[in-house]
Amino acid sequence: EIKLQVRGLAKVYGQTTALDHVDLDVRKGELLTLLGPSGSGKTTLLQLICGLQDPSAGSVIIDGKDQTHAPVNKRDIGVVFQNYALFPHMTVAENVGFALKMRKVSRSEIAAKVARALETVGLAHAAGRLPTQLSGGQQQRVALARCLVYDPAIILMDEPLSALDAKLREIMQIEIKRIHRETGATIIFVTHDQQEALALSDRVCLMNDGRIAQLGTPQAMYETP
Ligand code: ADP
Ligand code: ADP
Repeated sequence: EIKLQVRGLAKVYGQTTALDHVDLDVRKGELLTLLGPSGSGKTTLLQLICGLQDPSAGSVIIDGKDQTHAPVNKRDIGVVFQNYALFPHMTVAENVGFALKMRKVSRSEIAAKVARALETVGLAHAAGRLPTQLSGGQQQRVALARCLVYDPAIILMDEPLSALDAKLREIMQIEIKRIHRETGATIIFVTHDQQEALALSDRVCLMNDGRIAQLGTPQAMYETP
């Protein structure tokens, strides 16, 4: 079952072709990594998928419906970025529940959803703390919880672990695999780290110069010379 179809997707900035007519199918429940050097178009592809940017050409189809120009908040997509920018004066629980509060979800429902999201990322005990009282890895977990609280069908992660040290990165990779299993979400994970891509993915999409250079399972990528 195909969750997401990208068709002829392109983005041009002035003289720069950031994305050059990309076609990509992502299966429901799959964890796909976008791997490639800086400037290869990974972030642009994510931003077009979630609606943070408008494409120059092509379409984004989710569950068979054309969502190319649908606003970000209509797409059932959660996004986690590298610089997770938590609100410093709010507790962990308030950070995770903030967007729900803005959407006028009831207090009891917010409390239940926040508790469940914090449980999922292993931070139930830290609900009342401030971001400054947390380690970098814990702050990244809060950012992840803030996305999971919506229970999105698709989760986009843009180098979410690249600010963490090697040991923590390995722990968080295992956590992300567990969360992927538990939520059944379709995940697209951007990285420029080949080890990380091979460790996490059902499939790796190798990007270069705004195009897909290679697409396959980690095993198949390893065997290719
Ligand atoms: P990656 O995520 O793989 O590093 P990006 O998608 O960020 O690649 O960038 C792809 C290309 O598009 C790069 O050459 C980058 O400089 C350019 N680019 C990205 N965003 C913009 C923008 N807002 N304005 C101009 N050029 C951009
Ligand atoms: P990445 O970590 O994926 O390489 P960048 O740090 O290149 O991302 O880009 C961060 C932000 O800056 C993105 O929103 C991107 O669209 C924008 N950007 C990237 N390159 C340019 C550029 N040449 N001109 C203007 N904005 C850019």
